[in-house]
Amino acid sequence: MPTKADPCSQPSLMHPDEAIALLLKQVNPLEDSEVVPLSQGLGRVLAEDLASSIDLPPFNNSSMDGYAFRFEDLAHNESLQLIGQSFAGHPFEGEAKPDTCIRIMTGAPLPDGYDTVQMHERVEAKEAAIFIQSPKAIGANVRYRGEEVKTGGKVLVSGTQIGAAELGVLATIGTSQIRVTRQVKVAFFSTGDELRPVGTELASGQIYDSNRYSIRGLLSRANVEWIDMGVVEDDPEAIREAFKNAAANADMVLTSGGVSVGDADYTKQVLDEVGEITFWKLAIKPGKPFAFGKLGKAIFCGLPGNPVSSMVTFYKLVLPLIIKMQGLPQVKPLQLKATLKGDLRKYPGRVEYQRGILSQDDKGEFEVTLTGGQGSGMLTSMSLANCFVILSQEQGDTSDGTLVTVEPFNSVLC
Ligand code: AMP
Ligand code: MG
Repeated sequence: MPTKADPCSQPSLMHPDEAIALLLKQVNPLEDSEVVPLSQGLGRVLAEDLASSIDLPPFNNSSMDGYAFRFEDLAHNESLQLIGQSFAGHPFEGEAKPDTCIRIMTGAPLPDGYDTVQMHERVEAKEAAIFIQSPKAIGANVRYRGEEVKTGGKVLVSGTQIGAAELGVLATIGTSQIRVTRQVKVAFFSTGDELRPVGTELASGQIYDSNRYSIRGLLSRANVEWIDMGVVEDDPEAIREAFKNAAANADMVLTSGGVSVGDADYTKQVLDEVGEITFWKLAIKPGKPFAFGKLGKAIFCGLPGNPVSSMVTFYKLVLPLIIKMQGLPQVKPLQLKATLKGDLRKYPGRVEYQRGILSQDDKGEFEVTLTGGQGSGMLTSMSLANCFVILSQEQGDTSDGTLVTVEPFNSVLC
């Protein structure tokens, strides 16, 4: 089949990987930090190493509901005498004596003197006479003081992003306040005279401003502090004001729309006046046009207006910048090979991020189906998808059964 060239491709288009490398050189991790309550720590990045001021666990305790005793006593006794109980939060107050045992619950303190626990399924109680099947070794079912972390031991290092597990770890050592890096602040707005906010009627030629909502979602998932500046009309004065306000209040100014070649609007003119901005043409589909530069101290990223393009360029180009500013490492996205179900259309020329649904067949092999129409304005292609099917620049039409590269959506896209 003769291969047609991509009508939107030109030899001068920049490969997205080259663009990312250039962009990353332009930003640095934020240096400031602040102290926040642990309850507000989710998604934040630790700005200090944290050591435990207590042993973990803080005391010897049982990992089972059962009976605690001295292992050696089983060697010369048919049964042991029950002398008390230790419940979580209610330790045994008595003294461990030879040839005795106590009832003990999971997490309850193991009294000094006892060394072993047997689970209650392996114990027969006849009033105060307790018949215990011997466990294999002394110390069975005991969690020792400090066996996980000793006092002074490091539990988390600076630069760790706090997820659910880290919140729990910090609570386990009793931390109520944490020092974290300042959140990246992003001010964003949409440009375009055709855009109307949701909740209003559309007149002829108008559409709803959807990008601000998807961008809000992306920014929230990326754990940044965002300022939604609404829709800015195609009026030089309004655009100038919006850029100034945004740049004064944020580390990053993010816009959608008005960066493509055909845009005879004022965005470029105003950006040239108030900052240093370069308009890029990337060998990526969707998302060819992209603008980047500086507005005062803030960095500026101008996403294309087409809804899928704006999400893809955010994911591919803006997210790595945010991650670097947050002081987090760039993690190469997980990619895997899946069998394409159905045919796929592509012109050679640009790297494509087609939207797919990744699943596993009966044998556990990965397969991927496109979400349907792949137009850069079709946002349902993103909402139906759980992955990108990534096709290299040179790749053309691809037929059913071919192994293709798939990148599952990360937590920011889900
Ligand atoms: P532009 O990048 O401004 O040339 O816009 C490209 C396409 O995206 C046009 O069809 C616009 O109407 C559409 N578009 C631009 N901004 C938005 C937005 N905020 N929400 C939804 N569609 C948009
Ligand atoms: Mg526009």
